[in-house]
Amino acid sequence: MRPQDLLTPVPDGLCCKPGNFHIDPVRPVERAVITHGHSDHARAGHGAVLATQETLDIMRLRYGENFAGATQAVRYGEEIRLGDVKVKFHPAGHVLGSAQIAVSCKDTCIVASGDYKDVRDPTCAPFEVVPCDVFITEATFGLPVFRHGDAADEVRKLLASVALFSERAHLVGAYSLGKAQRVIALIREAGYDAPIYLHGAMEKITHYYQSRGIALGELKPVRGTKKADLAGTITLAPPSATSDLWTRRFPDPVTAFASGWMRVRARARQRGVELPLVISDHADWDGLTATIAATGAGEIWVTHGQEDALVHWCQTKGLAARPLDLVGYGNEEENEPLPEGEEA
Ligand SMILES: [Zn+2]
Repeated sequence: MRPQDLLTPVPDGLCCKPGNFHIDPVRPVERAVITHGHSDHARAGHGAVLATQETLDIMRLRYGENFAGATQAVRYGEEIRLGDVKVKFHPAGHVLGSAQIAVSCKDTCIVASGDYKDVRDPTCAPFEVVPCDVFITEATFGLPVFRHGDAADEVRKLLASVALFSERAHLVGAYSLGKAQRVIALIREAGYDAPIYLHGAMEKITHYYQSRGIALGELKPVRGTKKADLAGTITLAPPSATSDLWTRRFPDPVTAFASGWMRVRARARQRGVELPLVISDHADWDGLTATIAATGAGEIWVTHGQEDALVHWCQTKGLAARPLDLVGYGNEEENEPLPEGEEA
């Protein structure tokens, strides 16, 4: 079977006609197979959703009990038959429950990676290389300038600043699904055991991570805490909250931001970030290219992000490659709106 007959890019997302489903559709469809819980991939209103238990739980937390007509939980490694097609989920190492989806029919196998990273993350299952004929890769950081370095070093930078400015509060902007919990886990691994404070918009998801056995230490809500008591503390908040009036409740806050984009100094300056922390849940240039090579795929489809450089790199390695031009994905961490009534 030709790969483009197995998975076809359409305005709704990636469509699998022989299996009658879409992967991460951006509009409501009859049957959706979903890679992970970030809002640009997991949307409400589908007839049926197939995803890992964690992704289903996260969608329920965000959208409410009736987010889909029907749901089915899939374990990593479990094979499901949909129409003429076999579907298997593999860990993507991106956030809790995130999966790459291997779609096979006859002698053709395509892996849709969703978002992924190939480095250690104490809050989710490690990325797994899945051999395939066609690998669909993201390209959020698909330029050679993006090399994330070691996240533990960035966390040490944060803790050094906390030690140095003990009268100030440290406010760390971090996407509320995945990044925030990873940063907290890394802070704990670095030996910091004081309570860590949470913006209201972080609480539900973070407590869900704890309920799945992710150790995050003692967490407290910012809500109801006196300004003076926040001196010398660390608070995690959605990026959008770190630049609004909400920050006035903190004593002389140091604003940090945990993102792969912090590699670009101009971005940090533009956002008024005093302490940029290069911590990303997406593979960097080296991670993307190493992963592409490791899959053994002869054909690479590149989507959401900096497609051109990665397509060119593939071609120089003798791989067939093309951009997919899917619309509606990416920049999840910059565009996270504050949920209604959760400004605390
Ligand atoms: Zn994502």
